[in-house]
Parts: sequence; C-alpha cells; structure tokens
Amino acid sequence: MHLDPFELHRPTSVEATVRLAHELHGRFDYLAGGTDLLPNYKMHLNLRPHLIALHDVAELSGHSPTRIGAMERLAAIDEDAAYRTAYPVVGDAVGEIATPLVRASGTVGGNLLVETRCFFFNQSYFWRESLGFCLKADGDKCHVVPQKEVCYATFSGDLAPALMVLGAEVEIAGPTGRRRLPLGDLYDAKGDGIRRLAIAPGELLVAVHLPADAGSWRGRYRKLRVRPSFDFPELGVAVAARFDGARVQGLRIAIGGVEPRPRQFDELTRPLEGGALSDDRVRELAARLERSVRPVHNTFLAPDYRRRMVGVYVRRALADVREVRAG
Ligand SMILES: Cc1cc2nc3c(=O)[nH]c(=O)nc-3n(C[C@H](O)[C@H](O)[C@H](O)COP(=O)(O)OP(=O)(O)OC[C@H]3O[C@@H](n4cnc5c(N)ncnc54)[C@H](O)[C@@H]3O)c2cc1C
Ligand code: SF4
Repeated sequence: MHLDPFELHRPTSVEATVRLAHELHGRFDYLAGGTDLLPNYKMHLNLRPHLIALHDVAELSGHSPTRIGAMERLAAIDEDAAYRTAYPVVGDAVGEIATPLVRASGTVGGNLLVETRCFFFNQSYFWRESLGFCLKADGDKCHVVPQKEVCYATFSGDLAPALMVLGAEVEIAGPTGRRRLPLGDLYDAKGDGIRRLAIAPGELLVAVHLPADAGSWRGRYRKLRVRPSFDFPELGVAVAARFDGARVQGLRIAIGGVEPRPRQFDELTRPLEGGALSDDRVRELAARLERSVRPVHNTFLAPDYRRRMVGVYVRRALADVREVRAG
C-alpha cells in the first residue's frame, strides 16, 4: 500500500487555515497526527488532492485544566498525572486509545473527528473492489443493511464520550469567524456514518473547553475491545456523577462505539437526580440504556453482544463512581 501524491499546505494561523480551506472548496483534508487519515489514504479511501497540515498553527497546541488545543498530542494528556487525577474519566479514556506510539502522534482534535469505521470500509482498495464498493467510498449500496441511502459506520473514538459527560464545548473556526457548541452537538443527530458532523466542511476544530465545574464531577470510562493492547472500542461508556451525601445530584452517561455518533442520554439519567443511586435504580437504568442503542453488524463483535455489554459496562462504571464517592 502506498500514498498517492498530494499537495501539502502548512498555514501558520487559524485564520489563514480556514481561508485556505475555503479556497480549496472541499478538495482537501486537514492533517493532524495522521494516524487515522493516512492509513485510510493508503487504502484509497476518499482521497483528496490537498492536505492542510495543522502542525505550524501554534494556537492549536497546549492544554490547561479548562482548555485543550485541537493539536495537543494524546500522549501529553496521558502523561499529565495532575490532569488525569483532576479528570479521571478523561484519564481512563486517553490511556486506552491505541498504543503509546499512536498516542505520541495522534491528537485530541483528530480523535474527536476520527473517521467512522466499518468492516466493509476499513479495507484495501482490492478487497473492496472484489466485494463491490459501498456508499461510504466509491459505491452506491450498503453491505451491512442492504439499501442505498444510509451508512451505519460506527463512531469509534474514545475521548468524545469522556469529554461529553464533563460538559465540554468545542471551539470551531470558519470563514465567518468562531463559535462554540456543546461537544455532543458536533455530531449530527440527523446524519449517518458518512454525513456524521454538524459543522460545515472546512470548519476547523480549534480547541475543547471544559466548564469551571468539570472537576466536581466524578467520572469513569469503561471500554470494551477485542485486544486490550490497542483495539478501537467495540463499546465505550463514560459516566460522571455528583453526589450530595447519599443522593445523586447530577448524573450523565455517554456511549460511543455502537452507532455513527457518540450519544449522551440525559433523558434517561435526569429522572434519577435528587434520589439515592440504589442498586435497583442502577439496574433499571442499565436495562433502559441497553434498549436505547442500535449497534449493527459492522465491527468484530456481534451487535447483540455489544448491546448486552452496554448494561454490564454501565453498571460497572456506575459502581466505580460510587466507590470514588465512598472513598
Ligand atoms: C493501530 C491503531 C489503533 C487505534 N486505536 C484507537 C483506539 O483505540 N481508540 C481511538 O479513539 N482511536 C484509535 N485509533 C485512531 C486514531 O489513531 C486516533 O483516533 C487519533 O486520535 C487520531 O488523531 P490524529 O491526530 O492522528 O488524526 P488524523 O488522522 O490526522 O485526523 C483524523 C480526522 O480528523 C480530521 N481532523 C483532525 N484534526 C482536525 C481539526 N483540528 N479540525 C478539523 N478536522 C480535523 C482529519 O481531517 C481527519 O478526517 C487507532 C489508530 C491506529 C492506527
Ligand atoms: S455501513 Fe454500509 S455504507 Fe457504511 S461503510 Fe459499512 S458497508 Fe459501507
């Protein structure tokens, strides 16, 4: 497998980057660590003739307790013991992304915007050609759910659910300026595995911002994967809670790895706020969450198994946060 030629651009400011993106009219991809994009390019998946490298845009680097630049390396968060202690849910998630080598190059922005995955997509050109191309690259049908309209490729990033339950917002830059939106709204609720983002093509992710109260949420992330050494999540469950004595004051759960976008389930967790987080309530919540997700057969583990594991992992993650409170 080889990389086809492309033109590489290296802007040095956010404004110059989005201006260039606008001029290239969608005929480009942003290049961060390249740990997702370049393997996809080698497999001839949706190649573009231009790459805009973000490495020289100083504003995209660095992290503080309330801001992470989009180009901050995953390793920088993973190796920051104080950050991991302040936000255990982020520490859990970042420490389980890929391998140390990938984390040394991979970035926070690239992780939040990582391409959705599917058996029939993450394959070489020849493999895909011999079976018949699909909607997400070069073709016009889906092999997972036979039809010609919707792609069910799975969002398989670990960080998004963990940052969502802390109330993170993303800062986005486009040709008309900057704006902020809740991280969960970055992912298009009406989209699919192809039209997966709610931002316009060419808009740039500048940073992730955490609210001032993020440190008061006790959170954990639990990940199901085949090989613990480096696999993508087959399911990722992030839980964050705030307690007032025995009562749970706030409760958030976000789930990734089972659908085309990570989803937070406030409609199921809010009714529990103000009461005790009893074993019965936890069991009922876990069962409801299990019924709410829609995995399909496009990753290694069977969809029914992944769905059942939602309940198991929610119960385990909630037990973890209850333990932290007790300690
Ligand atoms: C062996 C292996 C194992 C992996 N395992 C995991 C895993 O367990 N969990 C996991 O979450 N990921 C995993 N990954 C995927 C990937 O390495 C990570 O998600 C990584 O964080 C991607 O970051 P990057 O900087 O390399 O992104 P890139 O590959 O550079 O970019 C990814 C996508 O984001 C876009 N993009 C990047 N930055 C911006 C920005 N600032 N604004 C707008 N668009 C942007 C790019 O155009 C591209 O579409 C794995 C990868 C490999 C090779
Ligand atoms: S879900 Fe269907 S359209 Fe989407 S990548 Fe898989 S086979 Fe292709």
